[in-house]
Amino acid sequence: MEKPIEPPATKKKNGVILDFIRTIIEEDIRRGKHGGRVHTRFPPEPNGYLHIGHAKSICLNFGIADQYNGFCNLRFDDTNPSKEEVEYVESIKEDVHWLGFDWEKREYYASDYFDNLYAYAVDLIKKGKAYVCDLNAEQIRDYRGTLTEPGKESPYRNRTIEENLNLFERMKTGEFPDGSRTLRAKIDMCSGNLNMRDPVIYRILHVPHHRTGDKWCIYPMYDFTHCLSDSIEGITHSICTLEFEDHRPLYDWYLDQLKVFHPQQIEFARLNLSYTIMSKRKLLNLVKEGVVSDWDDPRMPTIQGLRRRGYTPESIRDFCSRIGLAKRESIVDIALLDHCLREDLNKRAPRVMAVLKPLKIVITNYPENNVEWLEAENNPEDETMGSRKIPFSRVLYIEHEDFREDPPKKYFRLAPGREVRLKHAYYITCDEVVKDPETGRILELRCSYDPATKGGWSKDGRKVKGTLHWVSAEHALPAEIRLYDQLFSRENLDDLEEGKTHLDFLNPNSLDVLEDCRVENSLAEAKPESRFQFLRQGYFCLDKDSTTGRLIFNRTVILRDTWAKIEQKMLNKASQKNGT
Ligand code: ATP
Ligand code: MG
Repeated sequence: MEKPIEPPATKKKNGVILDFIRTIIEEDIRRGKHGGRVHTRFPPEPNGYLHIGHAKSICLNFGIADQYNGFCNLRFDDTNPSKEEVEYVESIKEDVHWLGFDWEKREYYASDYFDNLYAYAVDLIKKGKAYVCDLNAEQIRDYRGTLTEPGKESPYRNRTIEENLNLFERMKTGEFPDGSRTLRAKIDMCSGNLNMRDPVIYRILHVPHHRTGDKWCIYPMYDFTHCLSDSIEGITHSICTLEFEDHRPLYDWYLDQLKVFHPQQIEFARLNLSYTIMSKRKLLNLVKEGVVSDWDDPRMPTIQGLRRRGYTPESIRDFCSRIGLAKRESIVDIALLDHCLREDLNKRAPRVMAVLKPLKIVITNYPENNVEWLEAENNPEDETMGSRKIPFSRVLYIEHEDFREDPPKKYFRLAPGREVRLKHAYYITCDEVVKDPETGRILELRCSYDPATKGGWSKDGRKVKGTLHWVSAEHALPAEIRLYDQLFSRENLDDLEEGKTHLDFLNPNSLDVLEDCRVENSLAEAKPESRFQFLRQGYFCLDKDSTTGRLIFNRTVILRDTWAKIEQKMLNKASQKNGT
Protein backbone atom coordinates (compact mmCIF):
# COMPACT_ATOMS: atom_id res chain seq x y z
CA MET A 1 0.00 0.00 0.00
CA GLU A 2 1.24 3.47 -0.80
CA LYS A 3 2.29 5.67 2.06
CA PRO A 4 0.18 8.77 2.53
CA ILE A 5 1.85 11.82 1.06
CA GLU A 6 2.50 14.61 3.52
CA PRO A 7 1.09 17.89 2.32
CA PRO A 8 3.58 20.69 1.80
CA ALA A 9 3.38 23.49 4.35
CA THR A 10 0.46 25.76 3.62
CA LYS A 11 1.58 28.74 1.59
CA LYS A 12 -0.30 31.87 0.75
CA LYS A 13 -0.62 33.30 -2.69
CA ASN A 14 -2.19 36.72 -3.18
CA GLY A 15 -3.76 36.31 0.22
CA VAL A 16 -5.43 33.03 -0.83
CA ILE A 17 -4.29 29.92 1.00
CA LEU A 18 -2.46 27.57 -1.32
CA ASP A 19 -3.33 24.17 0.15
CA PHE A 20 -1.83 20.92 -1.09
CA ILE A 21 -4.60 20.34 -3.64
CA ARG A 22 -4.33 23.82 -5.13
CA THR A 23 -0.56 23.36 -5.20
CA ILE A 24 -1.01 20.22 -7.31
CA ILE A 25 -3.48 21.98 -9.59
CA GLU A 26 -1.24 25.01 -10.10
CA GLU A 27 1.64 22.72 -10.97
CA ASP A 28 -0.60 20.85 -13.46
CA ILE A 29 -1.65 24.13 -15.04
CA ARG A 30 1.96 25.27 -15.23
CA ARG A 31 2.95 22.03 -16.97
CA GLY A 32 0.01 22.28 -19.32
CA LYS A 33 -1.52 18.98 -18.19
CA HIS A 34 -5.00 18.57 -19.77
CA GLY A 35 -4.22 21.76 -21.68
CA GLY A 36 -4.34 23.68 -18.40
CA ARG A 37 -8.00 22.80 -17.99
CA VAL A 38 -9.52 22.38 -14.50
CA HIS A 39 -12.72 20.39 -14.17
CA THR A 40 -13.97 19.03 -10.84
CA ARG A 41 -17.19 17.41 -9.68
CA PHE A 42 -19.21 17.02 -6.52
CA PRO A 43 -20.50 13.43 -6.48
CA PRO A 44 -23.13 12.85 -3.76
CA GLU A 45 -24.89 9.55 -3.40
CA PRO A 46 -28.61 10.42 -3.18
CA ASN A 47 -29.22 8.31 -0.10
CA GLY A 48 -29.66 11.08 2.46
CA TYR A 49 -29.48 14.81 3.01
CA LEU A 50 -26.24 16.74 2.73
CA HIS A 51 -24.39 17.65 5.91
CA ILE A 52 -21.69 20.11 6.89
CA GLY A 53 -19.01 17.61 5.81
CA HIS A 54 -20.43 17.68 2.31
CA ALA A 55 -20.29 21.47 2.47
CA LYS A 56 -16.52 21.18 2.80
CA SER A 57 -16.39 19.08 -0.35
CA ILE A 58 -18.80 21.41 -2.19
CA CYS A 59 -16.80 24.52 -1.28
CA LEU A 60 -13.61 22.78 -2.33
CA ASN A 61 -14.80 21.46 -5.69
CA PHE A 62 -16.87 24.47 -6.76
CA GLY A 63 -14.33 26.84 -5.21
CA ILE A 64 -11.43 25.38 -7.19
CA ALA A 65 -13.39 25.42 -10.44
CA ASP A 66 -14.22 29.05 -9.84
CA GLN A 67 -10.69 30.05 -8.87
CA TYR A 68 -9.07 28.45 -11.93
CA ASN A 69 -11.75 29.37 -14.49
CA GLY A 70 -12.85 25.78 -14.73
CA PHE A 71 -16.09 23.89 -14.25
CA CYS A 72 -17.61 21.79 -11.53
CA ASN A 73 -20.22 19.14 -12.27
CA LEU A 74 -22.94 17.98 -9.95
CA ARG A 75 -23.04 14.24 -10.35
CA PHE A 76 -25.37 11.93 -8.53
CA ASP A 77 -23.62 8.70 -7.75
CA ASP A 78 -26.77 6.63 -8.06
CA THR A 79 -25.52 3.08 -8.54
CA ASN A 80 -27.30 1.61 -5.54
CA PRO A 81 -30.98 1.38 -6.50
CA SER A 82 -32.28 0.15 -3.16
CA LYS A 83 -31.23 3.10 -1.01
CA GLU A 84 -31.81 6.05 -3.28
CA GLU A 85 -34.75 8.36 -3.50
CA VAL A 86 -35.87 11.29 -5.60
CA GLU A 87 -36.50 13.27 -2.41
CA TYR A 88 -32.76 13.20 -1.72
CA VAL A 89 -31.86 14.34 -5.24
CA GLU A 90 -34.13 17.36 -4.88
CA SER A 91 -32.83 18.28 -1.44
CA ILE A 92 -29.21 18.00 -2.57
CA LYS A 93 -29.81 20.38 -5.46
CA GLU A 94 -31.57 22.84 -3.19
CA ASP A 95 -28.73 22.70 -0.65
CA VAL A 96 -25.93 23.24 -3.19
CA HIS A 97 -27.76 26.29 -4.52
CA TRP A 98 -28.44 27.58 -1.03
CA LEU A 99 -24.74 27.34 -0.24
CA GLY A 100 -24.17 29.66 -3.16
CA PHE A 101 -22.91 27.36 -5.91
CA ASP A 102 -24.22 26.63 -9.38
CA TRP A 103 -23.57 23.68 -11.67
CA GLU A 104 -25.43 25.42 -14.52
CA LYS A 105 -26.41 22.70 -17.01
CA ARG A 106 -23.88 20.20 -15.74
CA GLU A 107 -26.20 17.93 -13.78
CA TYR A 108 -25.26 14.32 -14.33
CA TYR A 109 -26.20 10.91 -13.02
CA ALA A 110 -23.96 7.87 -12.93
CA SER A 111 -27.04 5.95 -14.05
CA ASP A 112 -26.95 7.91 -17.33
CA TYR A 113 -23.76 6.00 -18.05
CA PHE A 114 -25.11 2.49 -17.44
CA ASP A 115 -24.93 1.71 -21.19
CA ASN A 116 -21.36 3.03 -21.43
CA LEU A 117 -20.36 1.16 -18.29
CA TYR A 118 -21.79 -2.08 -19.61
CA ALA A 119 -19.80 -1.61 -22.80
CA TYR A 120 -16.62 -0.93 -20.79
CA ALA A 121 -17.22 -4.12 -18.82
CA VAL A 122 -17.59 -6.10 -22.02
CA ASP A 123 -14.36 -4.52 -23.19
CA LEU A 124 -12.57 -5.67 -20.04
CA ILE A 125 -13.86 -9.22 -20.60
CA LYS A 126 -12.60 -9.12 -24.18
CA LYS A 127 -9.21 -8.02 -22.92
CA GLY A 128 -9.15 -11.01 -20.57
CA LYS A 129 -9.30 -8.65 -17.59
CA ALA A 130 -12.70 -9.61 -16.19
CA TYR A 131 -14.61 -12.82 -15.54
CA VAL A 132 -17.98 -14.02 -14.38
CA CYS A 133 -17.69 -15.65 -10.98
CA ASP A 134 -20.23 -18.05 -9.45
CA LEU A 135 -19.04 -17.68 -5.85
CA ASN A 136 -21.59 -16.12 -3.54
CA ALA A 137 -20.85 -13.07 -1.39
CA GLU A 138 -19.75 -15.13 1.59
CA GLN A 139 -17.44 -17.31 -0.50
CA ILE A 140 -15.94 -14.26 -2.16
CA ARG A 141 -15.17 -12.91 1.28
CA ASP A 142 -13.57 -16.21 2.36
CA TYR A 143 -11.45 -16.41 -0.78
CA ARG A 144 -10.33 -12.85 -0.37
CA GLY A 145 -7.84 -13.54 2.42
CA THR A 146 -6.85 -10.93 4.98
CA LEU A 147 -4.29 -8.17 5.41
CA THR A 148 -1.78 -10.79 6.57
CA GLU A 149 -2.85 -13.71 4.35
CA PRO A 150 -3.02 -13.81 0.56
CA GLY A 151 -6.33 -14.63 -1.08
CA LYS A 152 -7.24 -17.70 -3.12
CA GLU A 153 -8.13 -17.58 -6.78
CA SER A 154 -11.74 -18.22 -7.67
CA PRO A 155 -12.32 -21.55 -9.46
CA TYR A 156 -14.16 -19.54 -12.15
CA ARG A 157 -11.24 -17.21 -12.79
CA ASN A 158 -10.04 -18.96 -15.91
CA ARG A 159 -13.26 -19.15 -17.87
CA THR A 160 -12.80 -18.39 -21.54
CA ILE A 161 -13.59 -14.98 -22.91
CA GLU A 162 -16.51 -16.46 -24.90
CA GLU A 163 -17.99 -18.09 -21.84
CA ASN A 164 -17.63 -14.86 -19.86
CA LEU A 165 -19.26 -12.80 -22.61
CA ASN A 166 -22.11 -15.27 -22.79
CA LEU A 167 -22.70 -15.39 -19.03
CA PHE A 168 -22.41 -11.61 -18.59
CA GLU A 169 -24.97 -11.08 -21.34
CA ARG A 170 -27.30 -13.52 -19.58
CA MET A 171 -26.73 -11.79 -16.25
CA LYS A 172 -27.98 -8.64 -17.97
CA THR A 173 -31.05 -10.28 -19.48
CA GLY A 174 -32.17 -11.43 -16.06
CA GLU A 175 -31.62 -15.14 -16.28
CA PHE A 176 -29.97 -15.48 -12.85
CA PRO A 177 -31.20 -14.69 -9.37
CA ASP A 178 -29.73 -12.00 -7.11
CA GLY A 179 -26.33 -12.80 -5.69
CA SER A 180 -25.79 -15.93 -7.81
CA ARG A 181 -23.08 -14.47 -10.00
CA THR A 182 -20.87 -11.40 -10.28
CA LEU A 183 -18.53 -9.93 -12.83
CA ARG A 184 -15.07 -9.50 -11.32
CA ALA A 185 -11.88 -7.81 -12.38
CA LYS A 186 -8.96 -10.17 -12.90
CA ILE A 187 -6.15 -8.47 -11.03
CA ASP A 188 -4.16 -10.15 -8.25
CA MET A 189 -5.44 -12.30 -5.39
CA CYS A 190 -2.11 -11.83 -3.58
CA SER A 191 -2.03 -8.03 -3.76
CA GLY A 192 -1.13 -6.29 -0.51
CA ASN A 193 -4.11 -4.05 -1.25
CA LEU A 194 -7.34 -5.96 -0.63
CA ASN A 195 -9.18 -3.74 -3.11
CA MET A 196 -7.04 -5.24 -5.87
CA ARG A 197 -7.97 -8.85 -5.10
CA ASP A 198 -10.33 -9.35 -8.02
CA PRO A 199 -12.94 -6.77 -6.97
CA VAL A 200 -16.54 -7.14 -8.05
CA ILE A 201 -17.50 -4.96 -11.02
CA TYR A 202 -21.16 -5.90 -11.46
CA ARG A 203 -23.69 -7.59 -9.23
CA ILE A 204 -27.16 -8.93 -9.94
CA LEU A 205 -29.97 -6.99 -8.26
CA HIS A 206 -33.54 -7.36 -9.46
CA VAL A 207 -34.51 -3.97 -8.07
CA PRO A 208 -35.93 -1.05 -10.07
CA HIS A 209 -33.88 2.12 -10.19
CA HIS A 210 -35.28 5.62 -9.59
CA ARG A 211 -34.14 6.74 -13.03
CA THR A 212 -33.69 3.67 -15.21
CA GLY A 213 -36.74 1.80 -13.93
CA ASP A 214 -36.70 -1.91 -14.80
CA LYS A 215 -34.14 -1.61 -17.57
CA TRP A 216 -31.33 -3.11 -15.52
CA CYS A 217 -31.05 -6.03 -13.14
CA ILE A 218 -27.27 -5.79 -12.90
CA TYR A 219 -25.66 -2.76 -11.31
CA PRO A 220 -22.02 -1.59 -11.46
CA MET A 221 -20.04 -1.17 -8.24
CA TYR A 222 -18.88 2.19 -6.96
CA ASP A 223 -15.17 1.93 -7.83
CA PHE A 224 -15.83 0.93 -11.42
CA THR A 225 -18.55 3.54 -11.87
CA HIS A 226 -16.75 6.41 -10.28
CA CYS A 227 -13.52 6.46 -12.24
CA LEU A 228 -15.32 5.91 -15.53
CA SER A 229 -17.93 8.59 -14.82
CA ASP A 230 -15.05 10.96 -14.07
CA SER A 231 -13.40 9.91 -17.32
CA ILE A 232 -16.55 10.29 -19.43
CA GLU A 233 -17.11 13.78 -18.04
CA GLY A 234 -13.50 14.83 -18.65
CA ILE A 235 -12.88 15.52 -14.97
CA THR A 236 -9.26 16.59 -14.46
CA HIS A 237 -9.03 16.42 -10.67
CA SER A 238 -11.23 13.92 -8.86
CA ILE A 239 -11.13 15.06 -5.26
CA CYS A 240 -12.39 12.67 -2.61
CA THR A 241 -11.96 11.81 1.04
CA LEU A 242 -9.13 9.78 2.56
CA GLU A 243 -10.95 6.46 2.80
CA PHE A 244 -10.58 6.22 -0.98
CA GLU A 245 -6.80 6.39 -0.84
CA ASP A 246 -6.58 2.58 -0.89
CA HIS A 247 -8.99 2.54 -3.81
CA ARG A 248 -6.81 4.79 -5.97
CA PRO A 249 -4.77 1.89 -7.45
CA LEU A 250 -8.07 0.36 -8.59
CA TYR A 251 -9.30 3.71 -9.92
CA ASP A 252 -6.13 3.92 -11.99
CA TRP A 253 -6.22 0.25 -12.99
CA TYR A 254 -9.64 0.42 -14.64
CA LEU A 255 -8.73 3.54 -16.59
CA ASP A 256 -5.37 2.13 -17.64
CA GLN A 257 -6.83 -1.18 -18.83
CA LEU A 258 -9.53 0.57 -20.82
CA LYS A 259 -7.10 3.19 -22.17
CA VAL A 260 -9.54 6.06 -21.63
CA PHE A 261 -9.14 9.65 -20.44
CA HIS A 262 -7.44 9.48 -17.05
CA PRO A 263 -8.37 11.97 -14.32
CA GLN A 264 -6.23 12.24 -11.20
CA GLN A 265 -7.74 11.18 -7.90
CA ILE A 266 -6.61 13.29 -4.93
CA GLU A 267 -7.65 12.55 -1.36
CA PHE A 268 -8.11 14.90 1.59
CA ALA A 269 -9.18 14.36 5.19
CA ARG A 270 -12.91 14.50 5.75
CA LEU A 271 -14.36 17.01 8.13
CA ASN A 272 -15.19 15.77 11.60
CA LEU A 273 -16.86 18.14 14.03
CA SER A 274 -16.91 17.92 17.80
CA TYR A 275 -20.25 16.93 19.38
CA THR A 276 -21.49 15.84 15.96
CA ILE A 277 -21.97 12.72 13.88
CA MET A 278 -21.92 12.88 10.12
CA SER A 279 -22.60 9.45 8.75
CA LYS A 280 -25.75 9.60 6.66
CA ARG A 281 -26.74 6.17 7.93
CA LYS A 282 -26.62 7.36 11.53
CA LEU A 283 -28.37 10.62 10.70
CA LEU A 284 -31.15 8.70 8.95
CA ASN A 285 -31.44 6.60 12.05
CA LEU A 286 -31.91 9.66 14.27
CA VAL A 287 -34.80 10.68 12.02
CA LYS A 288 -36.34 7.19 11.91
CA GLU A 289 -36.08 6.70 15.66
CA GLY A 290 -37.66 10.08 16.33
CA VAL A 291 -34.64 11.39 18.21
CA VAL A 292 -35.02 14.49 16.04
CA SER A 293 -38.11 15.75 14.24
CA ASP A 294 -36.74 15.34 10.72
CA TRP A 295 -33.66 15.85 8.52
CA ASP A 296 -34.10 19.59 8.97
CA ASP A 297 -34.37 19.52 12.75
CA PRO A 298 -32.31 22.55 13.83
CA ARG A 299 -30.05 20.26 15.87
CA MET A 300 -29.02 18.23 12.82
CA PRO A 301 -25.64 18.90 11.16
CA THR A 302 -27.43 18.70 7.81
CA ILE A 303 -27.40 21.76 5.57
CA GLN A 304 -31.19 21.94 5.99
CA GLY A 305 -30.88 21.65 9.76
CA LEU A 306 -28.23 24.36 9.93
CA ARG A 307 -30.31 26.54 7.64
CA ARG A 308 -33.41 26.15 9.77
CA ARG A 309 -31.35 26.89 12.85
CA GLY A 310 -30.28 30.18 11.28
CA TYR A 311 -26.77 29.52 9.95
CA THR A 312 -25.97 31.59 6.88
CA PRO A 313 -24.38 30.19 3.71
CA GLU A 314 -21.69 32.87 4.08
CA SER A 315 -20.71 31.61 7.53
CA ILE A 316 -20.54 28.00 6.35
CA ARG A 317 -18.36 28.97 3.40
CA ASP A 318 -16.13 31.03 5.67
CA PHE A 319 -15.82 28.07 8.04
CA CYS A 320 -14.91 25.73 5.19
CA SER A 321 -12.17 28.06 4.03
CA ARG A 322 -10.79 28.54 7.54
CA ILE A 323 -10.48 24.83 8.37
CA GLY A 324 -8.26 24.33 5.34
CA LEU A 325 -7.25 21.00 3.91
CA ALA A 326 -5.20 18.23 5.41
CA LYS A 327 -4.10 14.70 4.70
CA ARG A 328 -4.73 13.60 8.24
CA GLU A 329 -8.05 13.15 10.05
CA SER A 330 -8.77 15.48 12.93
CA ILE A 331 -11.76 16.87 14.77
CA VAL A 332 -12.65 20.51 14.27
CA ASP A 333 -14.05 22.36 17.26
CA ILE A 334 -17.69 23.25 16.58
CA ALA A 335 -16.96 26.52 18.39
CA LEU A 336 -15.14 27.62 15.22
CA LEU A 337 -18.28 27.18 13.12
CA ASP A 338 -20.26 29.20 15.64
CA HIS A 339 -17.53 31.84 15.67
CA CYS A 340 -17.81 32.24 11.88
CA LEU A 341 -21.55 32.52 12.26
CA ARG A 342 -21.35 35.20 14.97
CA GLU A 343 -18.92 37.22 12.90
CA ASP A 344 -21.33 37.17 10.00
CA LEU A 345 -24.49 37.82 12.00
CA ASN A 346 -22.84 40.52 14.07
CA LYS A 347 -22.41 42.51 10.87
CA ARG A 348 -25.81 41.78 9.39
CA ALA A 349 -28.45 40.80 11.91
CA PRO A 350 -30.79 43.58 13.03
CA ARG A 351 -30.95 44.07 16.79
CA VAL A 352 -34.35 43.74 18.39
CA MET A 353 -35.71 43.17 21.88
CA ALA A 354 -37.39 39.98 22.99
CA VAL A 355 -38.24 38.78 26.47
CA LEU A 356 -37.92 35.04 26.89
CA LYS A 357 -39.34 34.72 30.40
CA PRO A 358 -41.50 37.80 30.97
CA LEU A 359 -41.84 39.63 34.29
CA LYS A 360 -44.42 42.40 34.28
CA ILE A 361 -43.41 45.85 35.48
CA VAL A 362 -45.67 48.85 35.95
CA ILE A 363 -44.15 52.34 35.68
CA THR A 364 -46.35 54.00 38.29
CA ASN A 365 -45.43 57.58 37.41
CA TYR A 366 -45.98 57.08 33.68
CA PRO A 367 -49.34 58.36 32.41
CA GLU A 368 -51.89 55.69 31.60
CA ASN A 369 -52.71 55.22 27.91
CA ASN A 370 -49.64 57.18 26.93
CA VAL A 371 -47.35 55.69 24.25
CA GLU A 372 -44.03 57.14 23.20
CA TRP A 373 -42.23 55.90 20.11
CA LEU A 374 -38.54 55.85 20.91
CA GLU A 375 -35.66 55.71 18.50
CA ALA A 376 -33.72 52.42 18.47
CA GLU A 377 -30.71 51.76 16.26
CA ASN A 378 -30.93 48.60 14.17
CA ASN A 379 -27.27 47.69 14.27
CA PRO A 380 -24.50 49.56 16.10
CA GLU A 381 -22.02 47.79 13.77
CA ASP A 382 -23.60 49.28 10.68
CA GLU A 383 -25.07 52.78 10.60
CA THR A 384 -26.56 52.22 7.17
CA MET A 385 -29.04 49.80 8.73
CA GLY A 386 -30.76 52.83 10.26
CA SER A 387 -33.16 52.84 13.15
CA ARG A 388 -36.74 52.05 14.04
CA LYS A 389 -39.30 53.33 16.53
CA ILE A 390 -40.22 51.18 19.48
CA PRO A 391 -43.19 51.81 21.76
CA PHE A 392 -42.77 52.64 25.44
CA SER A 393 -45.77 52.58 27.76
CA ARG A 394 -46.81 52.18 31.39
CA VAL A 395 -46.81 48.38 31.47
CA LEU A 396 -43.72 46.58 30.26
CA TYR A 397 -42.10 43.17 30.40
CA ILE A 398 -38.54 42.57 31.38
CA GLU A 399 -36.66 39.30 31.70
CA HIS A 400 -37.45 37.39 34.88
CA GLU A 401 -33.75 36.76 35.36
CA ASP A 402 -33.08 40.48 35.37
CA PHE A 403 -34.64 40.94 38.78
CA ARG A 404 -33.45 39.59 42.14
CA GLU A 405 -35.12 40.40 45.36
CA ASP A 406 -31.96 39.59 47.21
CA PRO A 407 -29.19 40.34 44.73
CA PRO A 408 -25.83 38.65 45.19
CA LYS A 409 -22.61 40.65 44.88
CA LYS A 410 -21.81 41.75 41.34
CA TYR A 411 -25.44 41.42 40.28
CA PHE A 412 -25.97 44.76 38.56
CA ARG A 413 -29.48 44.27 37.27
CA LEU A 414 -32.75 45.26 38.91
CA ALA A 415 -33.37 44.81 42.65
CA PRO A 416 -35.58 46.57 45.20
CA GLY A 417 -34.58 50.24 45.44
CA ARG A 418 -32.08 49.96 42.61
CA GLU A 419 -31.92 52.04 39.44
CA VAL A 420 -31.13 50.53 36.01
CA ARG A 421 -31.38 51.63 32.40
CA LEU A 422 -34.01 50.29 30.03
CA LYS A 423 -32.27 50.12 26.66
CA HIS A 424 -33.17 53.02 24.32
CA ALA A 425 -35.69 54.27 26.93
CA TYR A 426 -35.31 55.58 30.50
CA TYR A 427 -33.75 54.92 33.88
CA ILE A 428 -36.17 53.13 36.17
CA THR A 429 -36.09 52.34 39.89
CA CYS A 430 -37.82 49.39 41.51
CA ASP A 431 -40.05 50.65 44.32
CA GLU A 432 -42.17 47.65 45.21
CA VAL A 433 -42.44 43.92 44.64
CA VAL A 434 -45.97 42.54 44.34
CA LYS A 435 -46.32 38.88 45.21
CA ASP A 436 -49.01 36.28 45.24
CA PRO A 437 -49.92 36.18 48.94
CA GLU A 438 -50.43 32.41 48.80
CA THR A 439 -47.49 31.16 46.79
CA GLY A 440 -45.05 34.02 47.28
CA ARG A 441 -44.48 34.10 43.53
CA ILE A 442 -43.54 37.53 42.16
CA LEU A 443 -46.46 38.85 40.10
CA GLU A 444 -45.14 42.25 39.11
CA LEU A 445 -42.76 45.02 40.00
CA ARG A 446 -43.85 48.57 40.58
CA CYS A 447 -41.24 50.97 39.35
CA SER A 448 -40.82 54.69 38.68
CA TYR A 449 -39.03 56.25 35.74
CA ASP A 450 -36.97 59.41 35.47
CA PRO A 451 -38.39 61.48 32.57
CA ALA A 452 -35.07 63.36 32.37
CA THR A 453 -33.26 60.22 31.14
CA LYS A 454 -34.97 59.83 27.79
CA GLY A 455 -33.02 57.66 25.37
CA GLY A 456 -31.39 55.94 28.34
CA TRP A 457 -28.95 58.70 29.29
CA SER A 458 -28.87 60.89 32.37
CA LYS A 459 -27.99 64.54 31.84
CA ASP A 460 -26.67 64.93 35.37
CA GLY A 461 -24.05 62.27 34.75
CA ARG A 462 -25.73 59.78 37.10
CA LYS A 463 -24.46 56.31 36.19
CA VAL A 464 -26.24 52.98 36.40
CA LYS A 465 -24.54 49.63 36.07
CA GLY A 466 -27.28 47.57 34.48
CA THR A 467 -28.96 47.92 31.09
CA LEU A 468 -31.99 45.73 30.49
CA HIS A 469 -33.98 44.82 27.42
CA TRP A 470 -37.76 45.10 27.62
CA VAL A 471 -40.94 45.22 25.55
CA SER A 472 -44.17 47.16 25.89
CA ALA A 473 -46.84 44.75 27.18
CA GLU A 474 -49.63 46.16 25.09
CA HIS A 475 -47.63 46.15 21.84
CA ALA A 476 -45.44 43.10 22.14
CA LEU A 477 -46.21 39.95 20.14
CA PRO A 478 -46.46 36.55 21.78
CA ALA A 479 -43.91 34.05 20.50
CA GLU A 480 -42.62 30.56 20.99
CA ILE A 481 -38.87 30.41 21.29
CA ARG A 482 -36.93 27.20 20.93
CA LEU A 483 -33.58 27.09 22.65
CA TYR A 484 -31.22 24.59 21.09
CA ASP A 485 -28.03 23.07 22.35
CA GLN A 486 -25.73 20.33 21.01
CA LEU A 487 -27.55 17.10 20.26
CA PHE A 488 -24.74 15.12 21.88
CA SER A 489 -23.00 15.67 25.16
CA ARG A 490 -19.74 14.05 24.11
CA GLU A 491 -17.06 15.87 22.19
CA ASN A 492 -15.56 12.96 20.28
CA LEU A 493 -18.14 10.50 19.00
CA ASP A 494 -15.69 8.67 16.78
CA ASP A 495 -13.82 6.50 19.23
CA LEU A 496 -16.36 5.24 21.73
CA GLU A 497 -15.75 2.59 24.36
CA GLU A 498 -16.86 -0.91 23.44
CA GLY A 499 -20.55 -1.49 23.58
CA LYS A 500 -21.38 2.21 23.44
CA THR A 501 -22.98 4.05 20.56
CA HIS A 502 -23.59 7.72 19.87
CA LEU A 503 -27.10 7.21 21.23
CA ASP A 504 -25.62 6.73 24.70
CA PHE A 505 -24.44 10.33 24.58
CA LEU A 506 -27.59 12.20 23.62
CA ASN A 507 -27.82 15.52 25.41
CA PRO A 508 -31.15 15.46 27.33
CA ASN A 509 -31.21 19.28 27.27
CA SER A 510 -30.71 19.80 23.56
CA LEU A 511 -34.12 21.45 23.20
CA ASP A 512 -35.97 23.75 25.57
CA VAL A 513 -39.23 25.20 24.28
CA LEU A 514 -40.38 28.48 25.80
CA GLU A 515 -44.01 29.02 24.88
CA ASP A 516 -44.81 32.31 26.51
CA CYS A 517 -42.27 34.80 25.21
CA ARG A 518 -42.83 38.37 24.05
CA VAL A 519 -41.06 39.99 21.14
CA GLU A 520 -41.15 43.57 19.93
CA ASN A 521 -43.87 44.38 17.45
CA SER A 522 -41.49 45.25 14.61
CA LEU A 523 -41.09 41.50 14.17
CA ALA A 524 -44.66 41.19 12.90
CA GLU A 525 -43.27 41.73 9.40
CA ALA A 526 -40.39 39.26 9.68
CA LYS A 527 -39.99 36.66 6.96
CA PRO A 528 -39.22 33.01 7.69
CA GLU A 529 -35.47 32.37 7.82
CA SER A 530 -34.70 35.97 8.72
CA ARG A 531 -32.21 36.30 11.53
CA PHE A 532 -32.04 38.75 14.40
CA GLN A 533 -29.97 39.49 17.39
CA PHE A 534 -32.23 39.50 20.42
CA LEU A 535 -30.33 41.96 22.60
CA ARG A 536 -28.33 40.20 25.31
CA GLN A 537 -29.81 36.81 24.36
CA GLY A 538 -28.17 35.69 21.17
CA TYR A 539 -29.05 35.26 17.51
CA PHE A 540 -32.45 33.89 16.54
CA CYS A 541 -34.08 32.85 13.30
CA LEU A 542 -37.76 32.86 12.40
CA ASP A 543 -38.82 29.25 11.87
CA LYS A 544 -40.48 28.13 8.64
CA ASP A 545 -43.51 26.90 10.63
CA SER A 546 -44.06 30.36 12.06
CA THR A 547 -47.39 32.07 11.27
CA THR A 548 -48.60 35.63 11.79
CA GLY A 549 -50.67 34.46 14.72
CA ARG A 550 -47.93 32.37 16.22
CA LEU A 551 -44.35 33.47 15.81
CA ILE A 552 -41.75 30.76 16.31
CA PHE A 553 -38.07 31.56 16.69
CA ASN A 554 -35.14 29.18 16.84
CA ARG A 555 -32.12 30.19 18.84
CA THR A 556 -29.26 30.01 16.39
CA VAL A 557 -26.40 30.67 18.77
CA ILE A 558 -25.76 32.47 22.04
CA LEU A 559 -23.63 35.61 22.09
CA ARG A 560 -20.69 34.33 24.10
CA ASP A 561 -17.95 33.30 21.74
CA THR A 562 -15.84 30.48 23.17
CA TRP A 563 -13.73 30.28 20.03
CA ALA A 564 -12.57 33.88 20.37
CA LYS A 565 -11.25 32.94 23.81
CA ILE A 566 -9.50 29.83 22.52
CA GLU A 567 -7.96 31.87 19.72
CA GLN A 568 -6.77 34.54 22.17
CA LYS A 569 -5.16 31.85 24.35
CA MET A 570 -3.36 30.40 21.34
CA LEU A 571 -2.13 33.84 20.33
CA ASN A 572 -0.90 34.53 23.85
CA LYS A 573 0.94 31.22 23.95
CA ALA A 574 2.55 31.87 20.58
CA SER A 575 3.68 35.36 21.55
CA GLN A 576 5.10 34.07 24.85
CA LYS A 577 7.05 31.48 22.92
CA ASN A 578 8.38 34.13 20.57
CA GLY A 579 9.24 36.33 23.52
CA THR A 580 7.12 39.16 22.15
P1 ATP B 1 -21.54 9.58 4.61
O1 ATP B 1 -20.39 8.83 5.20
O2 ATP B 1 -22.02 10.71 5.43
O3 ATP B 1 -22.66 8.71 4.13
P2 ATP B 1 -20.50 9.68 1.99
O4 ATP B 1 -19.06 9.93 1.79
O5 ATP B 1 -20.97 8.30 1.78
O6 ATP B 1 -20.91 10.30 3.38
P3 ATP B 1 -21.38 10.88 -0.43
O7 ATP B 1 -22.75 11.29 -0.81
O8 ATP B 1 -20.77 9.74 -1.14
O9 ATP B 1 -21.40 10.62 1.12
O10 ATP B 1 -20.42 12.13 -0.47
C1 ATP B 1 -20.32 13.04 -1.55
C2 ATP B 1 -18.99 13.71 -1.50
O11 ATP B 1 -18.83 14.41 -0.26
C3 ATP B 1 -17.85 12.71 -1.57
O12 ATP B 1 -16.88 13.21 -2.46
C4 ATP B 1 -17.34 12.62 -0.17
O13 ATP B 1 -15.99 12.31 -0.15
C5 ATP B 1 -17.64 14.02 0.38
N1 ATP B 1 -17.82 13.99 1.83
C6 ATP B 1 -18.67 13.22 2.54
N2 ATP B 1 -18.51 13.41 3.86
C7 ATP B 1 -17.54 14.34 4.00
C8 ATP B 1 -16.91 14.98 5.12
N3 ATP B 1 -17.26 14.69 6.37
N4 ATP B 1 -15.93 15.88 4.89
C9 ATP B 1 -15.58 16.19 3.63
N5 ATP B 1 -16.13 15.64 2.53
C10 ATP B 1 -17.10 14.72 2.70
MG1 MG C 1 -20.11 7.64 -0.39
